[in-house]
Amino acid sequence: MKCLACGSGALVEGALTDGSGTNVFFNPGDIPMLKKMLGIGNRGIRAYACVHCQNLQFAVEFKENDLEKYQQFEGQQPGVLERINSEPEKLEE
Ligand SMILES: [Zn+2]
Repeated sequence: MKCLACGSGALVEGALTDGSGTNVFFNPGDIPMLKKMLGIGNRGIRAYACVHCQNLQFAVEFKENDLEKYQQFEGQQPGVLERINSEPEKLEE
């Protein structure tokens, strides 16, 4: 992984904690409140700090069944050429 801000590869991996050592999690917005209270749906967060520019970036530890659940966002996208070619043709006047 590279720093998104400066492109450096000098990243230190760590975890987000609340200061007393308790990990902070990512909670998807579509999880019902009761499940949130029970900690169901919590996904780990990996944090990467850039030594070079001090940027901080994150990654979520999704689980395998999450990938299936959210596959709706990864539908087939038309290529650029395909999109250009499908532009409605202008009518000749
Ligand atoms: Zn950086």
